[in-house]
Amino acid sequence: MERILELVTGQWRAAIEIVLLAAVIYYFLLLFRGTRGAAVFSGLVIALLVVTGLTHIFELDVMNWILSRVLGFLAIAMLVIFQPELRRALAQIGSQSFFSNSQQRTEVIDVLVETARQLSQKHFGALIAIEREIGFRGMQETGVAMDAKASTELLVTVFFTNTPLHDGGVVLRGDRVVAAGCIFPLTQQQGLSATLGMRHRAAIGLSEETDALVLVVSEETGTISVAKRGLLKRDLDATELRLLLARALAPPARPGNWLVDGARKLVAMLMSPRTGHAAHNHGFTEAVTPPETSTEEPHE
Ligand code: ATP
Ligand code: MG
Repeated sequence: MERILELVTGQWRAAIEIVLLAAVIYYFLLLFRGTRGAAVFSGLVIALLVVTGLTHIFELDVMNWILSRVLGFLAIAMLVIFQPELRRALAQIGSQSFFSNSQQRTEVIDVLVETARQLSQKHFGALIAIEREIGFRGMQETGVAMDAKASTELLVTVFFTNTPLHDGGVVLRGDRVVAAGCIFPLTQQQGLSATLGMRHRAAIGLSEETDALVLVVSEETGTISVAKRGLLKRDLDATELRLLLARALAPPARPGNWLVDGARKLVAMLMSPRTGHAAHNHGFTEAVTPPETSTEEPHE
């Protein structure tokens, strides 16, 4: 009887371990999905698996010894390589949701679509970052702080040529415009189309460093683009933009993700007593389909 009990509890432990490990790996993959780090990560893992396999099969002791030494250094190297992703991941854990309800979300989407349409018609250059889970106060501080309800009139005015605030990007948090004239980080991606200038590179750059959705209207061509996770979806019309925003800003609908969602909800709840609805808007089931400008493969 005791042995059976032991067996059962032993198996339970193994089961819990497997579930936890699977959750960690899954969460890691989710976090790294679509990032530059993802390619490096999978490359490293595959290379390590192959080399470890070979040294074991052929009993290459020296290689084995070297490998065991290298692994320690590798852990530190990983921290350096994945610094942006890790920062994003850590920021995500303590984050709050940004729209208080679906009506607010719809309103913001309406405002953004109409703003983009008007700016595009007028050929006003614009850069609007929609903050999602990860705050970017640092970048916000490079601009001028504001606190105004987002409206098409306000946003079009901000980007009116030659006004003090038209240069740089606007930060949108929920339905508030919280800053304008902000400087966003430029992407380091190689091989981007030469037609993409600083504004578009700043949009891509910010979307690499945070989970923000960044809307760009080109001054030169009037085209509307959206950057997400380092990918730029270019030349959107109003309908496409609305669809993209609605999908990207929608609450998650991923039935298989209850474990991740539950864990995040718990963390978010613990960290912010205010938000009962925390972790409500975090997931994005739809990716921006990879544009011709991207050097990456679609991950979704
Ligand atoms: P457009 O198609 O509108 O010309 P572009 O991608 O070609 O856009 P540029 O012509 O280089 O970009 O746009 C310059 C404008 O982009 C600047 O006037 C400034 O408002 C904005 N900009 C440039 N760099 C940044 C940055 N790092 N952060 C935010 N805004 C920036
Ligand atoms: Mg230009």
